[in-house]
Amino acid sequence: AVMEEEEEHIFRSRFPPVDVPDGITVPEFVLAGAEAYADKVALVEAAPGGRSYTYGEVARDVARFARALRSVGIRKGHVVVVVLPNLAVYPVVSLGVMAAGAIFSGVNPRSLAAEIRKQVEDSEARLVVANEVAYDKVKDVGVPVIGIGDQERMAGTIGWDELLAAADRTGPPMVPLEPVQQSDLCALPYSSGTTGVSKGVMLSHRNLVSNLCSSMFAVGPELLGQVVTLGLMPFFHIYGITGICCSTLRHKGTVVVMDRFDLRTFLGALVAHRVMFAPVVPPVMLAMVKNPIADEFDLSGLALKSVMTAAAPLAPDLLAAFQKKFPGVQVEEAYGLTEHSCITLTHAGDDPDKGHIAKKNSVGFILPNLEVKFVDPDTGRSLPKNTPGELCVRSQCVMQGYYRKKEETERTIDAKGWLHTGDVGYIDDDGDVFIVDRIKELIKYKGFQVAPAELEAILLSHPSVEDAAVFGLPDEEAGEVPASCVVRRRGAEESEADLMAYVASRVASYKRLRTLHLVDAIPKSVSGKILRRQLRDHFININKPAA
Ligand code: AMP
Repeated sequence: AVMEEEEEHIFRSRFPPVDVPDGITVPEFVLAGAEAYADKVALVEAAPGGRSYTYGEVARDVARFARALRSVGIRKGHVVVVVLPNLAVYPVVSLGVMAAGAIFSGVNPRSLAAEIRKQVEDSEARLVVANEVAYDKVKDVGVPVIGIGDQERMAGTIGWDELLAAADRTGPPMVPLEPVQQSDLCALPYSSGTTGVSKGVMLSHRNLVSNLCSSMFAVGPELLGQVVTLGLMPFFHIYGITGICCSTLRHKGTVVVMDRFDLRTFLGALVAHRVMFAPVVPPVMLAMVKNPIADEFDLSGLALKSVMTAAAPLAPDLLAAFQKKFPGVQVEEAYGLTEHSCITLTHAGDDPDKGHIAKKNSVGFILPNLEVKFVDPDTGRSLPKNTPGELCVRSQCVMQGYYRKKEETERTIDAKGWLHTGDVGYIDDDGDVFIVDRIKELIKYKGFQVAPAELEAILLSHPSVEDAAVFGLPDEEAGEVPASCVVRRRGAEESEADLMAYVASRVASYKRLRTLHLVDAIPKSVSGKILRRQLRDHFININKPAA
């Protein structure tokens, strides 16, 4: 066994390890020191007349909500599904759920009723929190609903304001009846991982606190209370809740909350709120560079210091064009995944004065406290520097597993605790990591997860479909788009458009198939696995203009 260990090529951060405090929950960690910032704005909606919360109000309402949850029957370990767009109240809801010892499970608010129901059922949720926009989709979901917003339009829900007010009347400030441990679960976001449909990713308080400590290793006390962050990335996703909300609130900055991307509103918010740090995805950078609307703004006066881009690969051309147009803005590429509580590799912490600058087009360096290796998918052996292999990571940020999916968990986290990411990359001589490929099935449309298995199951539910395969095709604007091949049953007459419409009526818009080809057979391996890579390569070549 010793030999084996010695042969392993394990890489660590070029920065020293950081301490992770013990025995502290996510809300305690995030809101530590909030009293000193009681009057400072913690969260503000960018929309005119939008709601805002000071640190005093966040701390108060997190505690009130945690207490109120008990009055509606929520106990430690219960799952609460949140169906809200990005609103200032969102982090208050999720931190309140965690403070009660319950588990926050965000869902994309653009999901259809059936998709929401699926997550509620799979997670065995006891409660849903939604606003009036989502009301129609959740009113028959089968569990009680807390309604935030226009109460008139949400008959039968428990009113948020009324609930918090009642919590004030019923006793002392929050003391959870059952103490919450760091090892307890706090979040259950959904991800399809390397294969199959979406699964609940079990994250503990320890997981998130560890990720926050590692990813904020370079945030010194001089930044306390200083940073204004754009809260545009979806808060139901790990990038939004951990990478944006929890980290900004931890260092007592302000999150400028935006619900959806529209370049004019986005640039207006950057200017009006003097945003310094904007975590985005590559399509947002593309719009900033290409869309002529940007020319209507005087961008010279921007307070913007850095843009973080993650969730999908950043094209080298786009990076170059962005740097040309915004020379004063630092681009921090980062790489992360839900199963690792968020960020894993990053440029944040690059410091030219100290001679640390990860190379352009790399996803950065390994965060402190993490171990990383690259394995040959065929032999399972770890590979030396400069040799591409499947990226594996081991740290306290690795999820506890997929909810009630033992087999899938064991396929993803091996016996030695390594999380297999399904991404291919390598580390160079300087410790910079490059992601070069993805071997997992996952399609990323503008950073959103689309699971081929889910769309295939829908296609196969159509009476005229005999077989189907879904795969990603590259797309300049979205990064990737879902594409498909279908074998029709003999005599079936549905057209490509009919079958695409069938899928479109059953999924949120970002999951819709962009192309569908009728074929005679789906290429499969001897073991029956769809050869998605082969399909992808085939259709990339077909769509290429002849040279
Ligand atoms: P999610 O769990 O939704 O955050 O998706 C994680 C996946 O997104 C990763 O496993 C990668 O496939 C992809 N991803 C995230 N960040 C990057 C990046 N900077 N470059 C390339 N792919 C990325």
